[in-house]
Order: sequence, then C-alpha cells, then structure tokens
Amino acid sequence: MNYRILGKTGLEVSEIGFGGEWLERHEESESIELLKYANAKGINIVDCWMPDPKSRDIIGKAMEGSRDKWYVQGHIGSTYQNGQYVRSRDMKFVRPAFEDLLMRLRTDYIDLGMIHYIDSVEEWNMVMNSEYIKYVHALHEEGAIRHIGLSTHNPVIGKLAVETGFIEMILFSINPAFDMRPATEDLYSMFEGYDEDNLSGIDSERVRFYQMCEENNVGLTVMKGFFGGALLDKERSPFGVAFTPVQLIHYALTRPGVSSILCGYDTKEQIDQAVHYEEASDDEKDYASVIANAPLHSYNGICTYCGHCKPCPVDIDIAMVNKLYDLATAQSSIPQSIAEHYKALGVTASKCIGCKGCESRCPFGVHIADRMKKAAELFGF
Ligand code: SF4
Ligand code: SF4
Repeated sequence: MNYRILGKTGLEVSEIGFGGEWLERHEESESIELLKYANAKGINIVDCWMPDPKSRDIIGKAMEGSRDKWYVQGHIGSTYQNGQYVRSRDMKFVRPAFEDLLMRLRTDYIDLGMIHYIDSVEEWNMVMNSEYIKYVHALHEEGAIRHIGLSTHNPVIGKLAVETGFIEMILFSINPAFDMRPATEDLYSMFEGYDEDNLSGIDSERVRFYQMCEENNVGLTVMKGFFGGALLDKERSPFGVAFTPVQLIHYALTRPGVSSILCGYDTKEQIDQAVHYEEASDDEKDYASVIANAPLHSYNGICTYCGHCKPCPVDIDIAMVNKLYDLATAQSSIPQSIAEHYKALGVTASKCIGCKGCESRCPFGVHIADRMKKAAELFGF
C-alpha cells in the first residue's frame, strides 16, 4: 500500500481508504471482519459520516485494540433523530451526536473532525457564523478532534473552505462524470441529465478547486469515486462505456491535491479488487482510453494527467510537467512550491526535442510539444 500525506494534517493516509456507508447492510460480525481485513491490507483511513448506532458500533468494535492503526474521518452534524439520518447544525442534536460518535467508536478523539456536508453558499454563511462552528473549534482546541475537515460536493464551497485557512482537508466527490458538470448546490442533479452538451470537458471551477487545494496544501479525500456504481456499468454510465474500479481509482488519485479515495465494500473480494490498484499495470489503470473511446465525451485538447503518452525518449514526465504548468498558469505568478516541484523533476520541458511521438499516444489530442515549449519558457528551463 502506498501512503500519501493528507495536506496540512501531515497524516500519512493509505491511497485506498474505507467508506463506511455499507457497513450496516451486513451482520455486525461480518462488517467487523471486513474492516479488520481492510486494515490488514494496509487501509488506514475510514469515513464515518453515518449517525446510526449499528455502523458506529461496528467501527468501534473493529478498532478495539488497534485504534492507533486507523485515521477516522468523523462527521460533526450528522445526527440520528427518530431512527433517521438528519443533517443538523442545531446544537441540541449536534453535541449529543458527536458524543455518541466518540462513545460508540470507543475512543476519545477523532482524527479528522468533519464539518458535515455543506453544498450551498447560504448554508456555508450560516454555519460560519454559528454556535456550531464555535463548537467545532472548541473540539479542536481540546483535542477531541485532531484536525478540522469539511465534506462537500460543490467546488464553490470547497474554494471557500480552502480560503478559511483553518480547514486542513476536504472530502469531495470526484469521478470523470462529476468532473464535467458545473458546480451545483443540488447533489441529486449530478446523477441525471447527462448528454453531449454537458460531457464537454472538465469543468473549470472544479479544475481551479483542485489546484487551490494543491497550492494551499489542503488535502483531498474522495467520495463517490464510482458515481454510485454507475460508471462500472455500461448501461448506466453517462459515457456509454464501463470503467473498472482500478481505472476510477487511478482517475481520482491523479487529480491534484488528492491523497486517498474512500471506496465502499460489501465483500473481501471488493477490498482485494481495490487494493489490487497498488500493483496494477499501466494498461489496467488506463482510464484515458476508455474516456477517449466513449461515444459521449469531449476532452479534446485537455490534459487529464493520465500518463498515456509515455515513454518520452528524453525521459520527460509529461503528465507531471503538464500538471505543474496548469497549476502555475492558474495564478498571476508561479507559486514557490510549484517552482520547486518543477525543479525537482530532473528532466524538464526544455529538454523536449519535439519528436511528437507522445502526441500520437495521447488519446485527447493534446499538443504536447507546444506545451513543453511553453512550460520551458514559463519556468525558465
Ligand atoms: S498529454 Fe495526453 S496522454 Fe499525456 S498525460 Fe496529458 S492527456 Fe494523458
Ligand atoms: S515531443 Fe517532447 S515530450 Fe513528446 S516524446 Fe518527444 S521529446 Fe518527449
């Protein structure tokens, strides 16, 4: 298992994580076994947005005696009222729900204390001026949460979160279909209405959000990486083609700023499938050909950082140069961290001999030689 630093938190999280949503679908003992199996495979981050006692007890029992081997992403404001999940900022529900989380997880701290699910600007403004946010800060100060995070599906809210400076990581929904949709405050609209008009390249707001996370060292963990399973099924995929789990994991993990993708699992085999990503070949990870050959898509000319254009005869890491070039040109001046990453590349864009062998392998028609020239001019070597 590879581990990545999760932004400012400094935590080393496994690239493949565990989304806990499906735990309550099984017998308690089966789900406990599943979590232990995942941990033995190197998975060390689990999301617990669920407010129901069963899910929380399962995670608590699975972590008993091995709390230090897990990073928990626990949500503040996910409450359980009359047997139902209710998202709330009302302290008479929020406080007991968080205390219940600690009690059922059999722990006295949550690694990543998540400001739970904000998708609208109106709610963001309300939350940021509320008793709720004071409570989040108080939990942080007393150590009940070690780091402050946020969960959202809306890049507009994600950008506001990055700008606060105190939100250290964000749980965000990332997959190739969502990435083509403009920002919305209505998550459910993301699951419907795909056609050629709205599969027309990565949405610029999302691109900018990922870039801001990387620039500001705000870590990203990923939810809905498989689009609720729709992208695994040709009939339901908005692209008209099916992806494999490994391809979708690779897509999420190659977005700027991303540290871990949290997948849901029903079986040990599904965990094995996801963890197989760690030893998968470049061909297995190749989401780019799938998108490029899909009946519905228009990524033309846009670099998705897929790495499909390898190898370069002079050993330029083309995907990385393109990523750093995009990050640098998104701002008025080149951020120091981006300049340093570029310098550390070893072989930089100025070494390009313009052979264009890479261009014939790029499924998206990127004018790579031109971009290498521009990158060399921008960075100065
Ligand atoms: S230039 Fe093309 S093949 Fe290379 S990383 Fe970008 S999109 Fe992929
Ligand atoms: S055009 Fe430049 S970047 Fe592309 S393969 Fe040739 S040398 Fe490498």
